[in-house]
This record gives sequence, structure tokens and C-alpha cells, in this order.
Amino acid sequence: MKGLSKVSVGEGGIALTQHAVPEAGPGEIRLKVAAAGICGTDMQIYHWAPRMARKMQLPRILGHEVSGVIDQLGTGVDGLSIGDHVSLESHIYCGTCYPCMRDRAHLCEKTGYPGITINGAFADYVVVPANIAWPNPKELPHEIAAMLEPFGIAVHACMEGSGVAGQRILINGCGPIGLMAVAAARALGAEQVIASDPNPLRRTTAEQMGADYGFDPTAVELPAAIGEVTNGNGVDAAIEFSGQPQGFLNAMASVTKGGDFRLVGAPAHPMELDLTQWLLRCPRIINIHGRRIWKTWEQATPLIYQGRVDLRPVMSHQLPLSEGARGFELIIQGAALKPILLPQ
Ligand SMILES: [Zn+2]
Ligand SMILES: [Zn+2]
Repeated sequence: MKGLSKVSVGEGGIALTQHAVPEAGPGEIRLKVAAAGICGTDMQIYHWAPRMARKMQLPRILGHEVSGVIDQLGTGVDGLSIGDHVSLESHIYCGTCYPCMRDRAHLCEKTGYPGITINGAFADYVVVPANIAWPNPKELPHEIAAMLEPFGIAVHACMEGSGVAGQRILINGCGPIGLMAVAAARALGAEQVIASDPNPLRRTTAEQMGADYGFDPTAVELPAAIGEVTNGNGVDAAIEFSGQPQGFLNAMASVTKGGDFRLVGAPAHPMELDLTQWLLRCPRIINIHGRRIWKTWEQATPLIYQGRVDLRPVMSHQLPLSEGARGFELIIQGAALKPILLPQ
């Protein structure tokens, strides 16, 4: 079978590779992959960020945002059947470590990931532990089902802390997950959704997905612009996706006193933060990592199944798996939001 793999260390090094079709072992399932999305994590692997390099052995088939059809069950797998359509939770959790036992499996001490620690879903087939499969209704299109994993992060970010209902929300950074968070915040009852991103394609898409305002933080002073549309109060919750130090500071400065600051995208390097300002303004700082397993999936999937959130505007390209490397290039050029790869 074909795979799209990281084959060499350093920048780039993405190539089509040939593999034997993998077999499902005990407790595992094999999916015939129908659709798989390229994610920011795949881009970090492309750029060979140190935190990825530490975890990976090459060559490795990439891809962890996937929808497929179960075509083989390993021994001891209950509750799933051949022919089931499933998305995958990308965190392979052990179920026995301290965080797992404390209902924090998303923070498992032994977390593995398809496409990082085992071969992933940019391939004709992928084998994974059965306990990360989330069955979907068969009428859900595979390209939408492949986006449930990142959508889960967006919903997780909207549900933590004070939530979003009845509140003014800043979505700072409108990559695919930020865009999904715009739509999730709207669907979950936010009073006002303000989006910020320097990229015009992302701003337009944010407005299409329900943002009341799309600000360019390189053209306006963001906290002041937000003050103007919130009667000088700032937002009740700022959700930071940009991963940029200035984005972090803008988001922090845009929160009303005692509001929420939720961090999804962390800056790559340590940065300076004025803790006196934090003490005076008292935002509650919450980190968002992955999805709560399975609570977030239970909260997120009805929004999609019932048509209350439409993820289609995020899916900027559909490419055959054999042209997957182009998807990476389109993202680097700022010309793509989420490319979805389709094995033929
Ligand atoms: Zn991802
Ligand atoms: Zn664990």
C-alpha cells in the first residue's frame, strides 16, 4: 500500500512510501482510510520541531485526523464491527497511569499518537488500538468525520472554564482549529464572537463561520479594537490559538477583569510575561490539551450530526494521497486552511 511519510530528519523530507498492508493484532482494528486531514502537528513534524524529533523514529507514515471503515478486527475487540465508519481519538492512552485513573486520559503519562509514535493514516490502511475509535453514523461524509478530532479541541476550548454561552469571546488565531472554535462558540450560544488573524483568507472564513468581527492584528491595536466593540470592557474569554508571543499578549490584554484566558497554541519558546498585570486583572488561565476522552466527543459530535456546525469552509482542498506533499506546501504558502487527503 501507499503511505505519505516523514523519511528524513530536518526540514521537509515528506515522500510517498510503499508498505505491506498492516495486520490488526490483539485489541486492534484496521481501517481502510477514507479521508485524513493535514494538521498543525504534521506541519511541526515537517519543520522537524525539537519536541516532535524527540518522539519519532523515521521513516514514519504521518496522519492522525482520520475517518475510515473498519475492515479487520484483532482478537478481543468488542463493541465494533467490520464495516463501521469511525473517526479516531488521536491520543492513545494507557488507561492505567495516574492521570488516566483520575479521568484525565488526555494527559496520559504514556500517550502515543498515530502518525508520531506508530504509523498513521496518510495511507491506504492504518492499524490502531480499538479503544481510540469513535463510531459515526454512516451518512456522515468521511471528509467531515476526518475533522472531528481537531473540532474536539475547539469544543474542549469552548467548554472549559466559564464556557461561552452568553459571553463575549475572542478567538485569537484562525487556523483550522480557531475557525472551528468560531463556529463552536456561535453554536454553543456565545453572545459575541470576535476573531483575529493576519491572514485575509482566514479572516474571511472566520466571518463565514459566524464571527461578528474579523480583526487584522497587524493593522489594528487588538486590545483597543476589542475595547471599541465591547463597550470598553474586553472579552469574557480569550481563547489563544496563534502560538505567537505577541498573540498571547494581545489575547491576555483583551480579557475583561476576572475573565478567562484559555491557551491552546503555545509559543515555541519561553517568553516574558508581566505577572503584576496578571495579578491586577486576574484572568483565570486555563490550558487546553487535546480532548477530554470521551466527554468532549460526546459534546462535540451532536453539533456536527445535527448540522449546527458546518466544517466545510475549513476544508480548503481535497487532494489524492499521492499528491499529499502539495498539501504541506499549500499550508506553508498560506494558501490552504485544512487540506484533506483521499486515498484512491
Ligand atoms: Zn491534529
Ligand atoms: Zn495513561
